[in-house]
Amino acid sequence: TDDFFKNVVSHAKEYGFVFPSSEIYDGLSAVYDYGQLGAELKNNLKTYWWKAMVQLHENIVGIDAAIFMHPTTWKASGHIDGFNDPMIDNKDSKKRYRADQLIEDQIARYEADGKTEVAQQLQTDLDAALNSDDLPRLKAIIEQHNIVCPISGTKNWTEVRQFNLMFSTKMGASAEDAEMVYLRPETAQGIFVNFLNVQKSGRMKIPFGIAQIGKAFRNEVIARQFIMRMREFEQMEMQFFVRPGTELEWYGKWKENRLKWHLAIGGDPARYRYHDHVKLAHYANAAVDIEYDFPFGFKEVEGIHSRTDFDLSQHQKYSGKKLQYFDPEVNQNYVPYVIETSIGLDRLFLTVLCNSFEEQDLSTDDKKDSRSVLRFHPALAPVKAAVLPLTKKDGLPDKARQILNRLKIDYNVQYDEKDSIGKRYRRQDAIGTPFCITVDYQSLEDDTVTLRHRDSMEQERVAASELEEIISNLVGW
Ligand code: ATP
Repeated sequence: TDDFFKNVVSHAKEYGFVFPSSEIYDGLSAVYDYGQLGAELKNNLKTYWWKAMVQLHENIVGIDAAIFMHPTTWKASGHIDGFNDPMIDNKDSKKRYRADQLIEDQIARYEADGKTEVAQQLQTDLDAALNSDDLPRLKAIIEQHNIVCPISGTKNWTEVRQFNLMFSTKMGASAEDAEMVYLRPETAQGIFVNFLNVQKSGRMKIPFGIAQIGKAFRNEVIARQFIMRMREFEQMEMQFFVRPGTELEWYGKWKENRLKWHLAIGGDPARYRYHDHVKLAHYANAAVDIEYDFPFGFKEVEGIHSRTDFDLSQHQKYSGKKLQYFDPEVNQNYVPYVIETSIGLDRLFLTVLCNSFEEQDLSTDDKKDSRSVLRFHPALAPVKAAVLPLTKKDGLPDKARQILNRLKIDYNVQYDEKDSIGKRYRRQDAIGTPFCITVDYQSLEDDTVTLRHRDSMEQERVAASELEEIISNLVGW
């Protein structure tokens, strides 16, 4: 599975899906750029989410709030005081670690050695220390269990300190009146502060939702596993505002609805599971992660949280503005309760890559052969079809370009005339193109073409005039 993941990462780079950021300068840690095909795939994922959440729900609308927000936002949301990771430094290697991660690794070692009871006890101690933000206790645990620095091998640790995950910068022209602003660590707050604007201007009636897709930034200390944990990433979030007392019913609905969404774009049901939170954040009364079985194990892709009236009440308190809704059905004013669905677009992208990538052995008795294929759902595929003239002469390219010019109005299509037809098919397989349209001599006579299917590699003869309809039926949502 290690090799599988390495192959996914190198395939993503080789074919223009994901590049390390500013690679000519040796990259920037935990920051990535999406290449020509990655950008298309990402856009298709956004469209799929937006259609499912906004377009198909009469009572959900979408917004696009700014990345910068008034600094008080982050006081109210709790991010200034509470959005911290406990860090510890090793004085010899000068390396910094998340204290809880070091302890988790120790628990895993105990488990691997069959010391289940010790492992369980340590987990309990760790949870208690984290829940009470007891930093000296974390340090004491690290010492008690003789945890050493993986680099230096020594136990020469500093104290444990909180490290805030928010990036900050200065806004304003002159140094004196410049104000500290933060790069948002989540998109949700842009929705909360606009709750009344949207409700009033859109005449929204509860229950209703506000959705948003946008960048978020976190100064993650431990960044690894490719685009799984990045410092700049993208979220797709929806806040659903409901009458207090009905939130758990809506929570159940969204929990079910969101998993179905993952499966509807070709997700393998066996690779998904729910992980219900037992320990809840102080503002939540229910929370679940949808986890995907990545090559490195089950990890969160999306969170569904019942956040009560915490966020709106906090903003009400800090802004002094009433953030209430008059509900004509019960003839009452109240601060709505909120169900949140929050998915990381980049993690979703990674699930789609892992779920689609396959190296197939196509060898026969007398010939060795193989192909790499990305078996994307046709609706997600960056390129929908490739138009390929069998040869470069006798008017075949002209005929192929006529077809291309028609199709490109509605679909992202490619033209390719270089190399043998077999090689060209393989190149399209490798980028996940669901259909290849081959123009040959017969095409000149009867206006038919060969339609070759990526997954089955089967070919059929179809009329060129029917291509739009055939493709539209297959790449639809
Ligand atoms: P984790 O426990 O993995 O750090 P989280 O619980 O902090 O994630 P949330 O704050 O619930 O994550 O954010 C919602 C979603 O945003 C996550 O499910 C994940 O898909 C995505 N996400 C969060 N942090 C990152 C990151 N650093 N890089 C990429 N995606 C992220």
